[in-house]
Amino acid sequence: MEELLRKYDRPGPRYTSYPTVPAWTDSFGPDDYAEKLREAAALGREAPLSLYVHIPFCREMCTYCGCNVVVSTSREKHEEYVEVLRRELDLLADHLGSRNRLSQIHYGGGTPTSLSEDLLVRLWEKIRERFEITPDAEVAVEIDPVVTRREQLALLRGMGFNRLSLGVQDFTPEVQRAVNRIQTVEETESMVEYARHLGFRGINFDLIYGLPHQRVETFEKTIDEVLRIAPDRLAIFSYAHVPDARPNQRRIDPATLPLGPEKYAIFDMARRKLLSAGYVAIGMDHFARHDDELAVAQRERRLFRNFQGYTVRPAPDTVAVGASSISDVRGAYAQNARPLPPYYEAIRSGRFAIVKGIRLTADDLIRRDAITELMCNFVIDLKSLGQRHGVDAADYLSDSLEKLREMERDGLVRITRDLVELTELGKNFVRPAAMAFDAWLDRLPPTRKGKLPVFSRTI
Ligand code: SF4
Repeated sequence: MEELLRKYDRPGPRYTSYPTVPAWTDSFGPDDYAEKLREAAALGREAPLSLYVHIPFCREMCTYCGCNVVVSTSREKHEEYVEVLRRELDLLADHLGSRNRLSQIHYGGGTPTSLSEDLLVRLWEKIRERFEITPDAEVAVEIDPVVTRREQLALLRGMGFNRLSLGVQDFTPEVQRAVNRIQTVEETESMVEYARHLGFRGINFDLIYGLPHQRVETFEKTIDEVLRIAPDRLAIFSYAHVPDARPNQRRIDPATLPLGPEKYAIFDMARRKLLSAGYVAIGMDHFARHDDELAVAQRERRLFRNFQGYTVRPAPDTVAVGASSISDVRGAYAQNARPLPPYYEAIRSGRFAIVKGIRLTADDLIRRDAITELMCNFVIDLKSLGQRHGVDAADYLSDSLEKLREMERDGLVRITRDLVELTELGKNFVRPAAMAFDAWLDRLPPTRKGKLPVFSRTI
């Protein structure tokens, strides 16, 4: 195993999108996005939509954070942001016409519950005014148990939120101090109990492996506590140390980071414990209780993944509001400005705030489909993939299948005329396998600073 880790632990994308963000350019702007929305509108009201709302505020910056965050607890700033979000929702709804049914809503951040109750209500009122929410919609919010008040949780549940994701990371005090995020087991547990009492389902914990000072023995204690609280779902993300791209990570001493086999051993321990406790591995780094709808969907090979994570309710398009948020509409990605001033200025003058994006070609679409299948279900059904895109997928993707031969020889992949399937061992190497289908990797343009794009390591 150590040899395989050494061989395949290379920098590579996480594939929350394909083509990945470094391939996007500023030649895709607000007018292109508006055109894509008009195309989306033409599908009519029966085609549901997914809506992502980005709320960037946090009261402090965690040193490991890789999200787009604004550190502020100012009521004025929060109020201004919500007013602009409301205008952006109007602009969006005007373009979408009767295509206004939402089957998935996700509030992410940042910390969405950094907003006070009245601001959460103002935001929600606008969504309700301009969109219709389907009766079985998945309405999710990410929360930080330390800053979230019970009143906020009750309010969100009353509005119709039914899924909850809690940031946990690691319960070990030494690790928490190193990442500037102190959160006790008791705080987390009491928030989960209350959420269950309110009727939230699909409760998810986000954990991270590879954090400073983390060791197998200490993380094992975290996993034991997590198993006792028994969330429905878990994500165990690999910490990506990219201090050039994320200056807040410079406060982490690289000498304290577990790397290579040591880092993998932490994940492997967690994975084994979760599987033996009855959780099912979902895609790359997610787990779900055997009876959770994600686990059921994976067994039936109908699991899907978008920017918000794994879902069983794939909407054909995702529209997003808020600074830095990313839409995925009619075969194009579009990202809003990250800093607040240009984002505010665009929306206030009645324009979208898109600063970069990409229109996917037919080749991008088939490769994205293949990568999604692999990341979700660990298997690509080449026949149905080909049918969906009007090609013979085995022929069309022969270059990628060739690249996988080495992984096949190493016992990580099985390839037949109809299927590409990861073996049990190979499921640990899903990102390197997905890279075989990525036609952009060798031709990504340099960043604005003239550097080649930086990816985290894949294991
Ligand atoms: S709470 Fe979450 S989003 Fe905010 S700084 Fe910490 S990790 Fe980043």
